[in-house]
Amino acid sequence: MRKRVLVTGGAGFIGSHLCEKLIDAGCDVLCLDNFFTGNKDNIVHLINNPYFELIRHDVTVPFYAEVDEIYNLACPASPIHYQLNPIKTVKTSVMGAINMLGLAKRIKAKILQSSTSEVYGDPQIHPQPESYWGNVNPIGPRSCYDEGKRCAETLFVNYHTQNDVRIKIARIFNTYGPRMGQHDGRVVSNFIVQALTNKDITIFGDGKQTRSFMYISDLIDALIKFMDTDDRITGPMNLGNPVEFTILEIAQKIIELTKSESKIVFMPLPVDDPIQRKPDISIATKELKEWKPTVTLNDGLSETINYFKSIIK
Ligand code: NAD
Ligand code: UDP
Repeated sequence: MRKRVLVTGGAGFIGSHLCEKLIDAGCDVLCLDNFFTGNKDNIVHLINNPYFELIRHDVTVPFYAEVDEIYNLACPASPIHYQLNPIKTVKTSVMGAINMLGLAKRIKAKILQSSTSEVYGDPQIHPQPESYWGNVNPIGPRSCYDEGKRCAETLFVNYHTQNDVRIKIARIFNTYGPRMGQHDGRVVSNFIVQALTNKDITIFGDGKQTRSFMYISDLIDALIKFMDTDDRITGPMNLGNPVEFTILEIAQKIIELTKSESKIVFMPLPVDDPIQRKPDISIATKELKEWKPTVTLNDGLSETINYFKSIIK
């Protein structure tokens, strides 16, 4: 029988790639989304597939379906989007986790949480291992996302210890690729769209802050392998590409690859913007069979640039 898999946030950037890969692997996929930041264009090519179902639903409201596995991805991920309605962001993370964990408990499904490197806040330890508790401002503009995701991790661990729910907590580091929203506001999509339209490239701060960028196919591979691990492997597990770049280097690389005439301009650094970020991925490379990030920044950016060229009108 085909494995039945629920993907919340399935019409978003990561979710749509995951739905596609799961269908290719022979699963029966239920894609649930409220279309806050996701959209139908991301999954329109799957709509006529008999093993794909699309459900408009908000995870803050309980949901019932019979499935074997749940990937809980529903949550806006870009700072501009998650800060638009911070109360809703907390509700999505926390009530969404409670609703999906309650469902997993009732139907005995395995459930994976898309947590984030933001649980480390502005990290004082570098690179970040899973054992690091982080440095998060609980009342800053990023806290609706950071603390929401931290509380979701707490809920996952407690449903596991109290109710034997089979859980997997993935701490995802900056991921990029085709189907990021054109107006999503994250750095890679912003810089590519600015470069392709010859607008100024907006660096926040001095551009010396760092991030480590993983291409989408490496993440999808890791998520599916993580779900398939032994029940004792619950995470948290960092998923990312440990090659670290400054934001200035990213801007220069994108200008070079697009042959753009855009100029770099410097703007104020947003409050609590983390200064450095790089995953320690030793747990992932040990526990996920034959997994390591394989796509270089050059190759991943070139694919992403081609995608944006095809959608920018
Ligand atoms: P995205 O914004 O493209 O996707 C999120 C999806 O969730 C969208 O389709 C949105 O419409 C949906 N959604 C939001 N609130 C919802 C709600 N209340 N009910 C139902 N659906 C809802 O972002 P993404 O980059 O694809 O991120 C997916 C997940 O991965 C998020 O949970 C995010 O926190 C996590 N994550 C992403 C990254 C990254 O770099 N992309 C890094 C760390 C964690
Ligand atoms: N950033 C930037 N210009 C932009 C968008 C983002 O300089 O147009 C910076 C941002 O301040 C941060 C980094 O790029 O230091 C990554 O930002 P993003 O929003 O992509 O992700 P996150 O901060 O959540 O890692």
